[in-house]
Amino acid sequence: MAVLPEVRKSYGRLKNYVDGEFITPTTEKYDPVYNPAKDEVIAEVPMCVKEDVDSAVEAAVNAFEEWKEVPVTTRVRYLFELKNALEKKFEELSRVTTQNHGKIIDEARGEMRRLIENVETAIAIAYTLFKGERLDQIATGIDEELVREPVGAFAVIGPFNFPALAPFWYIPYAMAVGATLVVKPSEICPIPMSEICSIFDEINLPPGVVNIVHGGKEVGEELIKHPDIKGVTFVGSTPVGRAVYKLAGEYGKRALVQAGAKNFVVVMPDANLDKAIPNMIASFYGNSGQRCLAGSNLVAVGDIYEELKKKFVEAASKLKLGYGLDESVGMGPVVSRKAKERILWFIEKGIEEGAKLILDGRNPKVPDYPNGYFVGPTVFDDVTPDMTIAKEEIFGPVASIIRFDTLDDAIEAINKSKYGNAAVIYTASGAAERKFTRSVKCGNVGVNIGIPAPMAFFPFAGMKESFFGVLHGQIDCVDFFADRKVIIKRWLG
Ligand code: NAD
Repeated sequence: MAVLPEVRKSYGRLKNYVDGEFITPTTEKYDPVYNPAKDEVIAEVPMCVKEDVDSAVEAAVNAFEEWKEVPVTTRVRYLFELKNALEKKFEELSRVTTQNHGKIIDEARGEMRRLIENVETAIAIAYTLFKGERLDQIATGIDEELVREPVGAFAVIGPFNFPALAPFWYIPYAMAVGATLVVKPSEICPIPMSEICSIFDEINLPPGVVNIVHGGKEVGEELIKHPDIKGVTFVGSTPVGRAVYKLAGEYGKRALVQAGAKNFVVVMPDANLDKAIPNMIASFYGNSGQRCLAGSNLVAVGDIYEELKKKFVEAASKLKLGYGLDESVGMGPVVSRKAKERILWFIEKGIEEGAKLILDGRNPKVPDYPNGYFVGPTVFDDVTPDMTIAKEEIFGPVASIIRFDTLDDAIEAINKSKYGNAAVIYTASGAAERKFTRSVKCGNVGVNIGIPAPMAFFPFAGMKESFFGVLHGQIDCVDFFADRKVIIKRWLG
């Protein structure tokens, strides 16, 4: 199979996108951006400072005054234009994502498809959810109505693992309701969002409606603290998410914080393993395990353990590692050298705490890409819920097999976990499914589905320390970017 061409060898020094222009920021500090399959620098990202944040916020605030008055029908036309332009660049943006992030091309295409679905859903929402409500005659001659009004300029802070999709859990909805944004993409994978800015330009989105400022922690914090920013959406790890939520609270800002995960995949004795295994493999090793919905703890209930272990390890060991632009590859590298070191640390920790390493991904051979940040599919057996590898988010291609006698034991372990992003059950039993789906304290629950990713018309849920706030991403964030106003009317005369 062919190795697809890279869109460009290098993306140079990235610029901010502010007030409809690509601008060189004031900062002089730039960090390298890598292609993780090759350990090659493919861009430099500006690590912006307060002045850069200030000018982007000013653009967003000024744009808001006009954007909120633009009729909804016109705002929706921009969203249609955005969708069409994204479709045209679908393949190119997918390849850019693979080049910067490392995920295989089909996963990058999947990310892009989901991203476009969010634009489509925002179009529908602009006419439905944003329509308002009304109840006549709540008392004699008195009518009551609820209208939604956009609040102002917001900040969007993105993670590395879905570098374009995660910001799009918010961008199209803000556009639909008439809010404006300053987006800070991940500094590790800034290129996909940077490329999408040229689409905002192409569709003539009014200047300032969506702005991009590159950088790290400092930019995130400056955005949250800025007096003209009304709130922040965040997707990233739990420790950072907690800090963001706290800072937002301190400054009296709205915050919608989607955070880290540790997901259990429970396999019941009646599960159809032949059909389920490929789906499980995609859950644990897709995106090299760097998904917030990825399986991490593989729970064997009762006597399915031996067969599950054998078939899972067999399938995992067949995954071909390589550069994601090679369409024959099944798993790409992890995102950075640092991420690789962190994952290797967890593997050592697992061994130290007594888990049995039955598939060792520490030194995979990837002949054409000897410098890439590869970690092979890894499986631990004899893992207990109190071990570090069973409790903490590894965010890499490492599966931990845990054995329980009953479904109740599995549910108890899931509910004891500090995380509550996703949980999955493989079973043929309606009773087990019902018990599981009703009892687990997790926001996204899969039944014979390894990656329970809600499509855009549903909120991207999350519970416990996987989420801070009330409203979630996707459809839910309409009410995050808007205020609800209730008008109670009586006409005298
Ligand atoms: P991260 O927390 O390291 O960084 C996320 C973003 O926060 C980056 O843009 C970073 O620059 C910024 N940041 C860092 N410190 C900050 C601070 N003090 N204030 C403001 N912003 C700050 O996360 P990551 O490594 O990029 O992403 C992986 C994590 O994201 C994993 O934990 C994963 O589970 C999680 N994630 C969660 C979801 C979800 O929906 N729950 C979805 C995708 C990823």
